[in-house]
Amino acid sequence: MAFEDRTLVCKDCGKDFIFTAGEQEFYAQKGFTNDPTRCKDDRAKSKQQKMERQTEITCKNCGKTDMVNFKPRNPEDILCNECFMKQRDTVHSAHRSTEPGTDTPETASSEKSDEADKSMEEEKPEATPDNE
Ligand SMILES: [Zn+2]
Ligand SMILES: [Zn+2]
Repeated sequence: MAFEDRTLVCKDCGKDFIFTAGEQEFYAQKGFTNDPTRCKDDRAKSKQQKMERQTEITCKNCGKTDMVNFKPRNPEDILCNECFMKQRDTVHSAHRSTEPGTDTPETASSEKSDEADKSMEEEKPEATPDNE
C-alpha cells in the first residue's frame, strides 16, 4: 500500500502541516497507529522542553550519572535516585537502632511529630538565656 502526503492540523499552533508519505511509512513501521497531532516545530519544541526540565547529575555517592526532573540546588551534593532511596532508608533505620530510648520526641516518626512537638513545647520550662 502506498502512502500519500496528508495535511493535518497541529493541535498546538493550529497550523496545517504535512504528514509526509515517508513519515507515514515510518510510523507504520514503528507500529504507531495514531497520526501525529503536532507539527514538526511543536514536536521539536516539546521534546526540547522535556529535555530542559531534566538535569543530568553525578551522584556524589556512587559517581553514576542520572537524570532528575528538577534543578538541584547543590549539583555537587546530590545523589542518584537509587542512592537517594537507599540513604533515606538508612537514615530512617539508623535513627531507630542507635537511639536507646525510642520514646524521645526527636525519634518519633513523622506521623507523630505533631503530637511530640506539642508535648515538647508544653514541657519546656520558661527558661531565659540568662539562666545558663
Ligand atoms: Zn504546531
Ligand atoms: Zn548513586
